[in-house]
Amino acid sequence: MLDANGAAIGYKCKKMNTHTPKGLVLFPGSFDPFTLGHADIVRRALSFSDEVVVAVGYNDQKRGWQPVEERVAAIRKLYKDEPRVRVESYTGLTVDFAREQGAAAIVRGVRTMADFEYEMQMADVNRQLAGIETILLPASPQLASLSSSVVRELAHLGRDISAFLP
Ligand code: ADP
Repeated sequence: MLDANGAAIGYKCKKMNTHTPKGLVLFPGSFDPFTLGHADIVRRALSFSDEVVVAVGYNDQKRGWQPVEERVAAIRKLYKDEPRVRVESYTGLTVDFAREQGAAAIVRGVRTMADFEYEMQMADVNRQLAGIETILLPASPQLASLSSSVVRELAHLGRDISAFLP
């Protein structure tokens, strides 16, 4: 960059660290069901981490559309040949599970401004609670309108949902 006199403005940079810090990241969600949008986030998270743990959160008080064991089994089947993806279920606080798993960060996807506001709040709470950072990945444009709830609604109406599932 040049300053007003045309002289180069020098930035004193330390030598760039060429070793990218990697590690395990936790991708928590309901995944009820796991969609192409979720698979896209897993694929992208693998590009900057060593291992992605897909963490299927459940609530004993709230029955999901698909039982949690079925969700876990379906996602495990999907990644059976990908040793860098592990699938687990958990209940309780996401940060507790993230800590238990030794996660370097939590990964979440952002489709809309509403997602963004919610995720910002959650990221802040999780950082305060456990000092864990959240990496927000913008949804790929072609998948940004895909949600598990839309898929459930279509299934409820008897439509074929296979085009939305990996
Ligand atoms: P939750 O109930 O915790 O929001 P979801 O299973 O609905 O769980 O979503 C898990 C994560 O995946 C969330 O961060 C959500 O924003 C993200 N996600 C869902 N659908 C998409 C999509 N189509 N593209 C990118 N991210 C998505």
